[in-house]
Order: sequence, then C-alpha cells, then structure tokens
Amino acid sequence: MNGTRVLVLNSGSSSVKYQLIDMHGGDRLAVGLVERIGEETSRLKHTPAGGGSREWSGPVADHDAALKAVAAELAGDGLGLDSPELAAIGHRVVHGGRRFTEPTVVDDAVLAEIERLIPVAPLHNPANLTGIRTAQQLRPDLPQVAVFDTAFHTTMPESAARYAIDVETADAHRVRRYGFHGTSHAYVSRETARLLGRAPEDVNVIVLHLGNGASASAVRGGRCVDTSMGLTPLEGLVMGTRSGDMDPAVIFHLMRVGEMSADEIDTLLNKRSGLIGLCGDNDMREIRRRVDAGDERARLAFDIYIHRLKKYIGAYSAVLGRVDAVAFTAGVGENSAPVREAAVAGLEGFGLAVDGELNAVRGDGARLISPAHARVAVAVVPTDEEMEIATQTYALVNDSGNLT
Ligand code: AMP
Repeated sequence: MNGTRVLVLNSGSSSVKYQLIDMHGGDRLAVGLVERIGEETSRLKHTPAGGGSREWSGPVADHDAALKAVAAELAGDGLGLDSPELAAIGHRVVHGGRRFTEPTVVDDAVLAEIERLIPVAPLHNPANLTGIRTAQQLRPDLPQVAVFDTAFHTTMPESAARYAIDVETADAHRVRRYGFHGTSHAYVSRETARLLGRAPEDVNVIVLHLGNGASASAVRGGRCVDTSMGLTPLEGLVMGTRSGDMDPAVIFHLMRVGEMSADEIDTLLNKRSGLIGLCGDNDMREIRRRVDAGDERARLAFDIYIHRLKKYIGAYSAVLGRVDAVAFTAGVGENSAPVREAAVAGLEGFGLAVDGELNAVRGDGARLISPAHARVAVAVVPTDEEMEIATQTYALVNDSGNLT
C-alpha cells in the first residue's frame, strides 16, 4: 500500500462532513460539509488546505449525490478520489453493538451487522450505511473502514454495562449500556496523558465531552471503565436538547397521566429537553449571556447542568479510586470558562481546582488550567474525532498488509 491519505466521512441523516488528511505529517488537505441533503436548499462548503473556501447552494437529492459533489470538489483541487495517494476511506459509524470492539474493514458481513443494529440506532446507522455503500461504489477497490462510536466503551465491565433489569429480557432485546462519543473519549484521554508527559497506561482520566450532545467517561490506564451514555445517547448528562438521567417512571407517568405516545415522549426527551427545554436556548454562549443579565430561567438551567456534571465527576472519582486528570472537551468544554469553573467549584476535597487566570485563557491547544502542584490535573483538551478516525483507519490498513 503506497497511499498516505485518508478520507474521513461522517454521514448524518441529512449531512455529510468530510476531511482529507495526509497521514504523513497530519496535514488536512481539505475539509468540508454538505448539509440539508434532500432539500431544495442543500449547501456545500469546501475548504482546501490553503484556505479560500468554496460554497454553493442548490438541491442535493441524496447521499449518493452529496458524495459525488464532494468528489468533484476534491478533484477540482487535484485531490480526486481516483488518486493513488488515497489509502482508505474511514467512516464514522455510531453504533457497533458489542461485536465491534475495534475499527473494522468493511465487507458484506460487516454491513449486515451494522444494518442489524439499526433498531438500537435508528437515526444514525442508516445514514452511516448509506455513506459506506456510496463510497464503495465510487472506489470499489479501496478499503472502507468503519470506526465505531461505541468501540472504546466495549472494555466496560459488566457491572457498569448492565442495567439492573431481568437478564433474559435485556439480552433478548440487546438492552445494555453501550456508550457513545467513543472516538472523542479515546483521543482526549490519550492526549491528556501526553499533556501530563505520561503513558496512557499509567493515567486515570475523567473525560467530560460537553458539546450539544454530552457524555462523561472514566478511563483507567487507557481503557474505558464507565461512561454516561447508555443504550442510546439519551442517558447521563444534561445536554443541549436531551434530558439525560431521569427516573424511567416519568415515561409511564407521561403515558398514563399525560396521555402522550411513545413517539411524543421520545421527541420530548431527545429534542425538547435538556437546556432548551429548561430555558429555551441550547447554546451555552446565549445561556451565559442571559445568566449575566440576571435571567432566572437561564440561571436554573445552568445550575441543573452543573449539578449533574458534578455528580458524574464525583461518581467517576469513586469508580476510578485514583484520578490523575479531569479533561474538558467539545464545544462547551473547550470554550466555556464559566462551565469549567462551576463544574469544579467546591470539589477541593477531591483534589480539584481551577486557576482563574489559566481558565480564562483562550487557545486552540491542549492546556492545563489547574493551579501548579494540584493533586489532580484539570485540562482543556480539544477533541479531534476526524483525526482519530483517520489514525485508526490508517493504522488498520497498514497493519492488514496490502489491502489496496
Ligand atoms: P459541539 O457539539 O461539540 O459542536 O458543541 C456545540 C456547542 O458548543 C454549542 O451548542 C454551544 O453551546 C457550545 N459552544 C460553542 N462555542 C462556545 C463558546 N465560545 N462558549 C460557550 N459555549 C460554546
């Protein structure tokens, strides 16, 4: 195999995000996205390495058309998919169930298994599959690698992965905790060890991935031992539009007393809850602006968000026994100093504190924000899921010998 480039594709239900990365040096040769696929006003934005984005709007009927448009943009920069430099295409796949514990070269059996998992990931796996199938048609000779959001969490012990419900019923319907954002938790826990100048095997880290979706994980020596998302990405932290943890009886109550259907409650908990349900906004910047202006609803939403976050920091401190670092990542975690400060406030007993000045510094790189000599390091570690997918994809096709 001679090529050194990997195309990373993240195919959502109505969007495709992509990055072409040269694995010798890690340069991003092009990044872009197609959104609102299937609408009249689809939009493509393509940015080559030197800058100078190109954008256009118009109907893109389906993922097939979207990928062909992406291929045409890349070809316009001399980076066409027919290039011998392209080593593989790495696909983000949200749900890999229990079977996929590692990135996997796609064949018919792998496609069938991803399809079989659609009932536990009805929004994501169908779009991921479409992305893979379309890419296969464009380059049938090239390895297509599936990198699963769930894979990093498959090391969780049964005590963390099982719900305390009837075992036969759970197994019959594959009800268990799978966890998500795995590529981010893997990347950030490793980068945190690097920031501390230690090997991942020697470090215990609590990773707080706080984006519009949010999840926490407890990582012991590079292996995930617990994470906050469960069967679906609904469990755990308060998120932009999702409730996170709740008494499951709320659902029966809303069915019986509120006369709501399962679908209505699904929409309520996934789309109209979390920060947006509590205060009408899901963007932390706007919520902080309202809090600073004295808005009580925004204040309450912020406090509920922080309260849940603290509970998970405490719980995962107990799960790990010894914590070396707490790492904040994703849109909120990387950018919101008030969230980081509030999440750690009062946890001095756990060895946790942030230095006000370090926390206020804005920057792109991984950095420590805890005071010098703190028992537990607190860090901001920007996530890079595309680079992680590309790295895993490239390592796999190189390890597997001459796959092209
Ligand atoms: P993600 O899902 O990782 O892309 O994160 C998206 C979320 O990050 C947005 O909904 C915002 O709430 C949050 N965010 C982005 N930039 C900032 C910022 N400068 N300050 C606070 N929150 C931010």
